[in-house]
Amino acid sequence: MLNKKTLRDVVVAGKNVFVRVDFNVPIEHGTVTDVTRIDGALPTIEYLVEAGAKTVLASHLGRPKQAGDPEYSLAPVAKVLSEKLDMEVLFFPKEDIIDDEVMAAFEDMKPGQVMLLENTRYDEGEEKNDPELARKFARFADVFVDDAFGTAHRAHASNVGITEFVDQSVAGFLVEKELDFLDGALEQPKRPFVAILGGAKVSDKIKVINSLLDKVDKIIISGGMAYTFLKAIGYEIGTSLLEADQLDYARNMIDQAKEKGVELILPIDFAVSKEFANTEAVMTNDENIPEDMMGMDIGPKSIELFNQALADARTVVWNGPVGVFEMPNYAVGTRAVADTLAKLDATTIIGGGDSAAAITQFGLAENMSHISTGGGASLKLLEGAKLPGIEALTDKE
Ligand code: AMP
Repeated sequence: MLNKKTLRDVVVAGKNVFVRVDFNVPIEHGTVTDVTRIDGALPTIEYLVEAGAKTVLASHLGRPKQAGDPEYSLAPVAKVLSEKLDMEVLFFPKEDIIDDEVMAAFEDMKPGQVMLLENTRYDEGEEKNDPELARKFARFADVFVDDAFGTAHRAHASNVGITEFVDQSVAGFLVEKELDFLDGALEQPKRPFVAILGGAKVSDKIKVINSLLDKVDKIIISGGMAYTFLKAIGYEIGTSLLEADQLDYARNMIDQAKEKGVELILPIDFAVSKEFANTEAVMTNDENIPEDMMGMDIGPKSIELFNQALADARTVVWNGPVGVFEMPNYAVGTRAVADTLAKLDATTIIGGGDSAAAITQFGLAENMSHISTGGGASLKLLEGAKLPGIEALTDKE
C-alpha cells in the first residue's frame, strides 16, 4: 500500500540517523500533560537504539515567539523521554539549535545513544522550508526517518527540505501504522463503512464530506456542523451554530448523498441551552429547537438512531465530537458514541484532535483500533489529499 521505503528497508546499525518526530505535546508548568505522542514515537526510537544507530531526534513545539522562548523548550520532553527509554537522552537547551557545542556532542555520540534537538521552530527557517537549515539537519543523517505523522501535511525544513540532501528518507513505524489504518480504511474498507463527522464548523470539513461520499455507506453528521444541515432542510435551529454561507453546500451534499446511495444521517433530538455554558440540559422532542435556545449535544433518540446506524458497521472513521464534550452536561452524546464504538466488532479509527482527546478523557483509548496522532494530517487524508511529508520520502524499489 505504502509505496515509500520504511525503516525496515534500510540498514541503520552504526549509522547516523536523523528522526523527525512529533513531540508537539501539551505542557503545563514545565510538565508534559499528555504523553501519547511521545509513546507513539517509542517503537522507532527503541528500534534504532537496539540496532546501534546514532539517533538525533527533532520536533517542533507550539509557536515560539522568538528563538529560545522558554515556554516552548523541549526540555520537559527530554526528561520524559529519558525516563521512558531508561537512558540519558542528550539535550542542549539552545537558542541556536545546531550550534558548535551540539555538533561536538554529536561527534562524540556512541552507537545506541540518543540526542534530542531543541524546538525546530526556534529557527525561522523551519517553517519556511529553508534549504540552509535543511542542509544543517542533513549533517546528522546518513538516513532520514520521518515519524512525525502530525506534521506530514506541512512542508517544513525538518521533514520535507531535508530529503533533498539525504539519499535514504524513510517512514518510521508510527507513520507507517497511521497510513496503514487511514489509507487502508479509505482504500479497502470492510463494509459497511460508516463515517461520523462532528466538531464545530462545516467549512472545515467541506472537502472531507465531498470525498467521503464516494467511499462510505453511511455518513453521520453531528456536532456544531449539524445545525447548518438541519436549517438547510427547513428545521428551526434557534440560536445554534449556523454557517449561513454553507446552506447551499449542505443542500447539495444531501442531494449528492441520495444520488450516490449513501445514507446521510442527522441527529433527531437535542440537549439545548439558553447560553453556551454548562447549564442543566433541556431535551427537545424532535429536530426543532426553541428560538432562544442552542443545540449543545445530541439527545437520547439521536443516540439510539446513531447506535442503530453503527450496529452492523465493520469500519468506522470518527472525526469531531457530537456535542460540546468539554462541558460535562453536554458530553453525554460524545460519550455514548465512544461507548458504542468501543464495543463494536469493527475497525474503529479516531481521526485525532478533539475526538481523540474525548476518547482519552473517557478512558476508552485501548478499545479503539487506532487513534491518530495527527488531527490535521488525518483530515487531509480523509479529504483525499496527498501529504507532502510522505510524498517527499524515497520510493520503494
Ligand atoms: P473541531 O475542532 O471542528 O473538531 O470542533 C471541536 C469543537 O466543536 C469542540 O470544542 C466542541 O465543543 C465543538 N462542538 C461540538 N458540538 C457543538 C455544538 N453543538 N455547538 C457548539 N460547538 C460544538
